[in-house]
Amino acid sequence: MQQEPWDVIIVGGGSAGLSAALMLVRARRRVLVLDGGAPRNGVAAHMHGVLGRDGWSPLELLERGREEVARYGGVVRTAEVAGAEAIADDANGAPGFAVTLESGERLTARRLLVATGLRDELPDLPGLVEHWGTGAVVCPYCDGWEVRDLRIGVLATGPRSLHQVQLLRQWSPSVTFFTNEAELADDDVAGLLARGISVEPRAWASVTADEAGRLSGIRLADDSTTDLDAIFLGPRPVPNDALLTGLGATTAPAFGDGDWVGVDPTGRTSVPGLWAAGNVVNPGASVPIAAGAGNFAGAAINADLIEEEIRVSLAG
Ligand SMILES: Cc1cc2nc3c(=O)[nH]c(=O)nc-3n(C[C@H](O)[C@H](O)[C@H](O)COP(=O)(O)OP(=O)(O)OC[C@H]3O[C@@H](n4cnc5c(N)ncnc54)[C@H](O)[C@@H]3O)c2cc1C
Repeated sequence: MQQEPWDVIIVGGGSAGLSAALMLVRARRRVLVLDGGAPRNGVAAHMHGVLGRDGWSPLELLERGREEVARYGGVVRTAEVAGAEAIADDANGAPGFAVTLESGERLTARRLLVATGLRDELPDLPGLVEHWGTGAVVCPYCDGWEVRDLRIGVLATGPRSLHQVQLLRQWSPSVTFFTNEAELADDDVAGLLARGISVEPRAWASVTADEAGRLSGIRLADDSTTDLDAIFLGPRPVPNDALLTGLGATTAPAFGDGDWVGVDPTGRTSVPGLWAAGNVVNPGASVPIAAGAGNFAGAAINADLIEEEIRVSLAG
């Protein structure tokens, strides 16, 4: 079967990319998914808040997704994409793209969907990275239930931390806000204390672990320690959007943190033929939201291909 150009190349095989692929292969499109194999929540053993799959391993979900895409003839390859260029077909005015793998291999497609997720930039706190995704987590809705009524610490990493710490009071009466000497407004401190949230202003030094290697608390700069069962924090979300910006997709300040590629509700970017879905354009996308965005993008890309096919057929 002739495959090049593919109808659609999807870079990133997480919830967003695989959901788009499933829609497209079921619409009988020839789809290639190129995936680096490092989904954002791959560090977590279980995922929650995912209807029908609550408590599943995130990796098992994606394995099932790959099987489902392959069942309809989609191809999912483990590969890192290093670059992309637009190769519009001047004869019929149709967009097109070539992607280059790290191996140097070049692959072409009529449409490109980028679903490469984001990187969580953690604060510089020794010991934290070792517990990321297990004892140290980001999302109360994903991991709050598992530590209900236990000792929760929240790191002040930015303006949204105040909301996060107030949110976590919903899950436990034992919540401490570690501000690392950051100044808090009097009203904010009053709001925390009024709900029984402790405020620890001293500088933090490291995250501690017990003999089994599990997170056990925080050591402060004066060498005192606070025992904890979990730490929540807001890492800085950095979109893996180099392919999108390299192709000229328009960005704008968004989500209160840096520039993000803008998309319409279907995931269409400012570049004809180029779509994006999931965490790469929306840091708030949980697994169901990323999957939904991919689902919508898949249908929209198919519709866009049909528009092109009508134009080409009319031209004769
Ligand atoms: C610790 C933690 C726990 C979480 N728990 C939950 C939870 O319980 N429930 C929930 O709903 N959400 C949870 N999330 C959020 C969840 O991780 C995201 O919603 C989800 O991963 C977004 O899917 P995505 O497809 O956009 O990106 P990802 O899942 O990150 O997938 C992106 C894929 O693109 C690939 N990629 C990137 N660049 C390239 C490239 N250049 N070439 C090829 N491939 C590339 C990556 O390897 C990766 O496989 C959690 C997040 C974290 C950090």
